[in-house]
Amino acid sequence: MDKERKLVIAGNWKMNKTVAEGLDLVNGIKRECKDVKEVDIVVCPPYTALSEVSKAIINSNIRLGAQNMSENNYGAHTGEIAAGMLKEFLVRYVILGHSERRQFQKESDELIAKKAAAAHAATIKPIVCVGETLAEREGGQMEKVLQTQVRGSLAGLTPEQMVETIVAYEPVWAIGTGKTATSQQAQDAHAFLRSLLAKQFDDNTARRVRIQYGGSVKAANARELMSQPDVDGALVGGASLEDRSFADIIKNSI
Ligand code: PEP
Repeated sequence: MDKERKLVIAGNWKMNKTVAEGLDLVNGIKRECKDVKEVDIVVCPPYTALSEVSKAIINSNIRLGAQNMSENNYGAHTGEIAAGMLKEFLVRYVILGHSERRQFQKESDELIAKKAAAAHAATIKPIVCVGETLAEREGGQMEKVLQTQVRGSLAGLTPEQMVETIVAYEPVWAIGTGKTATSQQAQDAHAFLRSLLAKQFDDNTARRVRIQYGGSVKAANARELMSQPDVDGALVGGASLEDRSFADIIKNSI
């Protein structure tokens, strides 16, 4: 598939996989995807598996991501993990503002913007998640919600940092539900997000930012979704927990 921007497909393992299970999974992905050059492949294990997974992917085409990080640097923040600690494991990406964290940990756009700034300060690329709930979509609020989230959670980034930031459009109603947005719904939302980036930054920056789609992506719908001009990859939950299904999404996207 000929794309303007290089596809980036990330697996969000969420709170799944022991170290041994994570190693099995990543070794399987490594085997299945060893010849893939067209896609940036990222795995985001829980913190507890970062160290071993990091060692397992040295000299491979797989990059490491984390699922969250603190907005603070080292210090008195019990239970938190700083960007510098992630760097020790060669973490290159970090998912920020996932809808589960927005919902259950009450993360605000303001907090997410602070985390994005801290990630960039450590040269970790943030994957900033945005997306509307079903009630918001049905109430005609989708654009307003996306606008608020983009304005707030990407506030303060320079254009150079924005280009190194990934936006993940994840309609909340499609996450873990088996309900995927149609490729047209995804394209429309992605094009709208890109127009917001053009306003907040500039046209050239907006054109270079990769926007992933997330929400029940699987091998069967990956090709159709990735063929949309403004869809530049996927953030995958459930289907990233098994090597073949994650590898098939990647292979079907090329
Ligand atoms: C996610 O949690 O980011 C996600 C997209 O999950 P799923 O693929 O399971 O819908």
